[in-house]
Amino acid sequence: MSVVRKPLIIALEEHYCDPAVTAHFKGPSGNQPALRERLEDLGELRLKSMDEAGISMQVLSHGAPATQRLDAVTAVSVARAANDRLHTTVKAHPDRFGAFGVLPTADPTGAADELERVVSRLGFKGAMVHGLTNGAFLDERRFWPIFERAQALDVPIYMHPAIPHPAVIEAYYRDYVEDFPSILSAGWGFTVETATQAIRMVLSGVFDAYPRLKIIIGHMGEGLPFSLWRIDQAMSRAGNRALDFRATFSEHFWITTSGNFSNPALLCSVMELGVDRIMFSVDYPYVENTQGTDWLKQLPLCAEDREKIMNGNAKRLLKM
Ligand code: MN
Repeated sequence: MSVVRKPLIIALEEHYCDPAVTAHFKGPSGNQPALRERLEDLGELRLKSMDEAGISMQVLSHGAPATQRLDAVTAVSVARAANDRLHTTVKAHPDRFGAFGVLPTADPTGAADELERVVSRLGFKGAMVHGLTNGAFLDERRFWPIFERAQALDVPIYMHPAIPHPAVIEAYYRDYVEDFPSILSAGWGFTVETATQAIRMVLSGVFDAYPRLKIIIGHMGEGLPFSLWRIDQAMSRAGNRALDFRATFSEHFWITTSGNFSNPALLCSVMELGVDRIMFSVDYPYVENTQGTDWLKQLPLCAEDREKIMNGNAKRLLKM
């Protein structure tokens, strides 16, 4: 008798919301009750959606901006309590859920300590940070204790977008925000800000200081695989400090497919970074699970490469 084995599908940019965290900001679901319900659900509703789409496992992370807009004192206790509750969720369904913790980045040493706690005590796979920390990019040296600890623990930091800096909104997007609010988020603002954060990380020298540091970015690399050749060429021109931009980016960054199920974007990313750097994700509940797994079924790749994207690369990077 032959047994048809369901493919193992791991998704790793899958969000939830903790009401005790979202109480501190205007919630990521805004005023959409259906989205809010799906963000706050960590049981029946979520598992049913995963089952319908054939998703074996979600690595859970809080929605943006998580704890990145909190002051240093508040952030430490809020992050710790949220991570403890997330641990309880994972323990209830250890075969279905993993976790990326939230970090109180406003207190970089506290964030490094919390990263160590969630990884070594709670079994989390790393941490996710959302956009700027109260207006500051993460490549600033005061945040480097977080990266030092991530390297020591050998876990990745997932750099997720958040709504851009208010000055950027005012200068770049204000004219279109009312008719097209998504210009601030997945429509464009998220992409620019996260790509900028990634570029700044490479320029900062943080990867010279921590040569085994691993960073994940979502949304098929936030446009960077497409632009990598040009950035690299431009940064090599006279007047720039010596830096192998492309090599540094390609060595330290992994990307996920979250919310960007485009074959042209995938093929570009495979050609630029290699298939070993690409991991499946949905961006639930902002994007539908079935949209992601329907796309997986028709990837223009061989079975071995498809398997790497569905689970192999994540298993290796997150030691699952
Ligand atoms: Mn997301």
